[in-house]
Amino acid sequence: MKWPREFLLEQSVSLVEQLGKHEKWNNESLKRLRCAEPIIAVGGNEADCAQISADTEIDRISTECSTRIILKIRAALSLISADLKSNGEHRYGLCGECGLVIYTNRLEAIPWADLCLVCKDKDEMADKENKGFNSRKQTIVRSRSVAPGASTLR
Ligand SMILES: [Zn+2]
Repeated sequence: MKWPREFLLEQSVSLVEQLGKHEKWNNESLKRLRCAEPIIAVGGNEADCAQISADTEIDRISTECSTRIILKIRAALSLISADLKSNGEHRYGLCGECGLVIYTNRLEAIPWADLCLVCKDKDEMADKENKGFNSRKQTIVRSRSVAPGASTLR
C-alpha cells in the first residue's frame, strides 16, 4: 500500500493543525486544574466547591482525552514522515489491530485514526463489556496480525 505523496502531505498539514489545537486545549485545562487544586484544598463555600470540582472533573477528562489524541497525532505524524522518506511500503493509515488499510474518508475526518471502523467497533464493545478495562490498550507493543500492504479497504 502506497499513499500518494500529496495525500500524505495534506494529512500532515491537518495533523499539525489539530496538534496545535489539542495542545492549546490541554494547556488551558491544565492551567485551570492547577488553579482549582488549592481552592478545593482550602475548602470554603460548599456550592462554589461543588461547582469547582465539577469543572475540575470535566477538565481532567478533557485533558486525558486530548493527551490521548495528542499521542495519536504525534504517532501519525512520525509514520507519515517515515513514509515520505521511504520508497517502499507505507505504514500510515493501516489499522493497528488488523493491519488493513483504513478508508480514506475516515482518515480525512480523523487523520490520527489508528483503527479501522470494524476494529474500532470491536474495541468499543470490549470497552463496554469489560467496564472500562480493555486488554488491547494494556499492551504497548503489538505486532500486526496482518502484514501491512493488504489491499482490502475497511
Ligand atoms: Zn482493523
